[in-house]
Amino acid sequence: MKIAFFSTKSYDREFMDRANHTFGHTLTYFDTSLNPDTAILAHGQEGVCIFVNDKAGAETLKALHQISVRLIALRCAGFNNVDLKTARELGMKVVRVPAYSPYAVAEHTLAMILTLNRKTHLAYERVRNGNFSLERLMGFDLHGKTVGVIGTGTIGGIFAKIMLGLGCKVLAHDPYPQEDLKQVGIQYVSLKEMYPQADIISLHCPLTPSSYHLISQEAITQMKDQVMLINTSRGALVNTKAVIEALKSGKIGYFGLDVYEQEERLFFQDLSGHIIQDDVITRLMTFPNVLITAHQAFFTENAMTNIAETTLENITAFEQGQKLKNEVVLQG
Ligand code: NAD
Repeated sequence: MKIAFFSTKSYDREFMDRANHTFGHTLTYFDTSLNPDTAILAHGQEGVCIFVNDKAGAETLKALHQISVRLIALRCAGFNNVDLKTARELGMKVVRVPAYSPYAVAEHTLAMILTLNRKTHLAYERVRNGNFSLERLMGFDLHGKTVGVIGTGTIGGIFAKIMLGLGCKVLAHDPYPQEDLKQVGIQYVSLKEMYPQADIISLHCPLTPSSYHLISQEAITQMKDQVMLINTSRGALVNTKAVIEALKSGKIGYFGLDVYEQEERLFFQDLSGHIIQDDVITRLMTFPNVLITAHQAFFTENAMTNIAETTLENITAFEQGQKLKNEVVLQG
């Protein structure tokens, strides 16, 4: 089947081409992202494959439909960038890669916590400059601390168990609690109960209209002083301006983010040498207690292999009219 891949980087092409030896699809790669203006590039293709920052809103989907594209294959888990209602109205199918390496994201979350806490990024630079002082490098024991996990699906569940293994008390919040997590000692609570108790809060829920800016000024006010907030889920779960105010006042003690609300204009690109126009991220970049990674939590060899194989399997299933086990269906 002919598929146009948008927002591709060298590593996407490498892993897709390798996996495609088994599948034999015709893959056309574009560097550019998908949006209403670039949709026309998919002319002559039966499907498009997109990533987290491509925009498959109503206008884009209608433009794709006009040129006979019928499949939107997401090579990621999140699907907040696709207008599912319009896709359904147009009879277009949407598939995704629901879990490619949840361990990759959960482990990156831990890496962010350890870096912010033990300041290994600062120590690395210091020692290389011949500075062996310990001033301002003090951290705290994770053992015995309380960790709040918002969203205990595939990634949040693994992360919760990792933190339990480190000797933390884990409080979780999810509309669908997992029995196996309860059995290993994870306690489900409301956000109201979690916020005043958690030393570390990590976000693992999807971005939906109801979770937009879940971390608001009001939510932050209820949190412990010096709380560590980690977001490896989706940028818009957090009201970044409210977080900046809380960092300035010292209410938030540490902020780790792998995702950012305005990331599509920044992430996955080398902008060194350019003037960054986004004043919010540049302000974040000035805090010593903020760690930013550019949506790399998923980025392991295992995950890239799984993404490529599952994406191509999804495309084959669509081509052969099979049941789409990874279809994204609009609820309600
Ligand atoms: P999942 O669907 O397995 O789990 C999500 C969980 O969140 C579910 O249990 C759901 O019930 C719960 N949930 C939904 N709304 C909630 C709310 N308002 N409050 C609390 N819980 C809520 O998803 P997953 O595979 O674990 O992925 C979680 C998120 O991680 C994805 O939505 C995606 O945005 C993000 N992600 C990021 C990266 C990265 O590289 N940074 C990679 C993959 C996924």
